[in-house]
Amino acid sequence: MSMSNFGLLHIEEMCFIFRGSELLLRNIPDIELPSEEVVRKCLKENFGRDWFTEKTMGYSAVHLESDAPTPAECRWVRLRILFHENNPLAPLAGRALGLLNWRKSARFCSFCGGALVDDKYETARRCSACDRVLYPRLSPAVMILVQKGDTILLIRHSDRNTDTYTCIAGYIEHGESLEECAVREVREETSLEIANIHYLGSQYWPYPDQLMTVFRADWAGGEIFLQDGDLEEAAWFHRDRLPEIPKPGTIAYRLIRGFL
Ligand SMILES: [Zn+2]
Repeated sequence: MSMSNFGLLHIEEMCFIFRGSELLLRNIPDIELPSEEVVRKCLKENFGRDWFTEKTMGYSAVHLESDAPTPAECRWVRLRILFHENNPLAPLAGRALGLLNWRKSARFCSFCGGALVDDKYETARRCSACDRVLYPRLSPAVMILVQKGDTILLIRHSDRNTDTYTCIAGYIEHGESLEECAVREVREETSLEIANIHYLGSQYWPYPDQLMTVFRADWAGGEIFLQDGDLEEAAWFHRDRLPEIPKPGTIAYRLIRGFL
């Protein structure tokens, strides 16, 4: 892997430049990262809030200011698009954005308040005062497809202003297993009971640091009763008459399509 030097910056050939969660691409129909020349110019003119290089992974990542202009012959795309299209760049770009997001909250040591600096050898931050090492954090979550005969349970969130229906999901709490989390989330959101819980897979999702694990389960009792204000609607949908569901590339899409 060839590398280039930009003054103090040590930049890998593959460079992900973000503005918020938008990724900078060449302004062509294909998904292609900008040339080295563009990266050089961009960094010179809009030096970012933050940047880092993972030599072992062969890439650099830069976070530009939110009002950074669009460089000539470039365009911004939401990183989600790469996931939706199953683009081969998506996992590494996701890692880059996830680590940039993490670094925003990893500036000071949570033990002594000392300033954190990049560790020389690992993808971690080291406290300049007490020498503790802080590693990137992930938030595990659970998504459950609940099945009842030829129907599945889908929900719609009240705060998302969308007609898209998806599966119940939530973050794991201390003291519970993934399966216990699935039972609790379904019960909390809909007051339904589930059984026969099976793990199906997982997906990393850098918004901001999620590891989503997915399960299927059978309805085991109860009627739908919305427990709190998070959900606009929860209903059983027949496999032949599904509403609008999340886009391809999301794990929710694969989970629901798998049922079909
Ligand atoms: Zn410290």
